[in-house]
Amino acid sequence: MLEVLVATGNPGKLREIREITAGLPLRWRALAEFPHVPEAVEDGDTFAENARRKARHYSRATGLWTLADDSGLEVDALGGAPGVHSARYAGLPRDDRANNRKLIAALAGVPAARRTARFRCAIALADGEHILLETDGRVEGRIIDEPRGANGFGYDPHFLVPELGRTMAELPSAEKNARSHRGAALRAMLRQLEALLRARGLWPA
Ligand code: IMP
Repeated sequence: MLEVLVATGNPGKLREIREITAGLPLRWRALAEFPHVPEAVEDGDTFAENARRKARHYSRATGLWTLADDSGLEVDALGGAPGVHSARYAGLPRDDRANNRKLIAALAGVPAARRTARFRCAIALADGEHILLETDGRVEGRIIDEPRGANGFGYDPHFLVPELGRTMAELPSAEKNARSHRGAALRAMLRQLEALLRARGLWPA
């Protein structure tokens, strides 16, 4: 079993990663197991840059291969905001409800047709300084004023998936994983990871 650290403190993300990767010969370690490690600085301009910085930081600190993601919401009518600031859009400490209130206020008067948005996710796998693999994924949708659904987290209750007529928060987690930006980026990562493990003779055992 290869031990890989998942560099997220978000239990929702960790659960999604575990569900999507069930069956692979990987033992996921959680950031919570390394309370002494200082938090990575996420001040990159892009999701990809933040994912790389986080992966390198925690891999150097723990000596483990480390998978890090950076994700967020891009709203076209807001010039791509909240973007890399999605988690702290309404300030610190992170507050999903305050973020959603700010988002809906910022979109006041914007008609439904111009409320196009997407969730994006970049994932990097680092071995110390070295970036082993990188992937990204996205899912397109539209922002609605009234929140719907109780699943998921973050902006999910306001993110309508038009072809389903349901918000991300109305989807069971398996269905969200199947369409989400993180699901797409993770599945791409896993395909690459399998190839890397094969090439190194580490898998199949
Ligand atoms: P990160 O933890 O720096 O990647 O920040 C991600 C932020 O983007 C979260 O705190 C949410 O506000 C938002 N976000 C990312 N992925 C999702 C998702 O799947 N659903 C809802 N919000 C998300």
